[in-house]
Amino acid sequence: MPINFLVTGGAGFIGSAVIRELILNSENFVVNVDKLTYAGNLESLDSVEHCERYTFEKADICDAASIKRIFEEYQPDVVMHLAAESHVDRSIDGPADFIQTNLVGTSVLLETAREYLKMLHVNKPKKAAGFRFHHVSTDEVYGDLGVDDLFTEKTPYAPSSPYSASKAGADHLVRAWQRTFGLPTIITNCSNNYGPYHFPEKLIPLMILNALEDKPLTIYGDGQQVRDWLYVEDHARALIKVATDGGIGETYNIGGHNEKTNLDVVVTLCDLLQELAPSERCYRDLITFVADRPGHDLRYAIDASKIERELGWAPQETFKTGLKKTVQWYLDNREWLRRVQDGSYRGERLGTGA
Ligand code: NAD
Repeated sequence: MPINFLVTGGAGFIGSAVIRELILNSENFVVNVDKLTYAGNLESLDSVEHCERYTFEKADICDAASIKRIFEEYQPDVVMHLAAESHVDRSIDGPADFIQTNLVGTSVLLETAREYLKMLHVNKPKKAAGFRFHHVSTDEVYGDLGVDDLFTEKTPYAPSSPYSASKAGADHLVRAWQRTFGLPTIITNCSNNYGPYHFPEKLIPLMILNALEDKPLTIYGDGQQVRDWLYVEDHARALIKVATDGGIGETYNIGGHNEKTNLDVVVTLCDLLQELAPSERCYRDLITFVADRPGHDLRYAIDASKIERELGWAPQETFKTGLKKTVQWYLDNREWLRRVQDGSYRGERLGTGA
């Protein structure tokens, strides 16, 4: 039986990958609820927009009346909640939007889902029994790690930035709605994603863009911060697996077993660009070190054994194959890059507000 998915933040980087996967590789229905902030871009959904199983609703998740109307109209079986303010540097310059969307917005969705589920229990008990609310979160809620440890689902929360604190708060709200009200929720915490359609304020697309424009490739601090990288389509497949087969009340960590320092990532990107877009100038010469981000976590690394063991998920891309695909995609889609930049963001440094 096809499932009705309600995806929030579906015009963003990861949400659009989830919707492309759901529409192109299943018979399910999707309503995409997105406010279209600077980070939302409907062009990322060009490949699905004409499918009759896909609908877009422009709405703010903080607007309770609109969200209630959307639940009533589309009668979702599964909610996948990805809408968020997501950039750490922006959260340093202006935390208020993060508190609003990530905390208030999540609480609005939880309350709306609770009321909707009550209605289902009365009118459609079978549909009520299958309902689930999947909250998509980040490994940044755990704070930073020493040299050898890994984040497990039991690692205590210790967020460092306004972004990660707002996501941690949202995770706590979701758990509270499950414990107190019995809302059938699931949480996933994932490591850094990379891949096509990523807004060029984040490390990998920003470095590709700057290298192609012969601009400095600025690295925060000494570039020794370690992140565990996952190709966005692998994340999308993991999210759909969890949303449909995950255990109610459970948390799943998702990661790619690809621990790299930021400097390693940028050097690898330079070498890939040298191969795929040869230039007389050596891209590596553009690398420039700048003052570190305030509160910058040193290391994140995920133990993804629970989702691998219990749900049979494993990433399909290695860092090498995923990064090559990503660089090639940005080379083939320079127009997309130019258009998303127009008017909002020109690659300048953010997060100096502290
Ligand atoms: P993104 O910034 O690319 O997209 C966010 C989307 O949410 C945008 O389309 C935006 O328009 C929409 N949005 C923002 N505020 C909204 C509001 N008030 N109402 C409705 N829509 C709103 O983010 P992303 O990188 O795709 O991340 C998606 C989710 O995954 C986030 O919850 C993020 O915390 C989480 N996550 C991201 C990563 C990563 O590496 N990017 C890793 C782990 C978890």
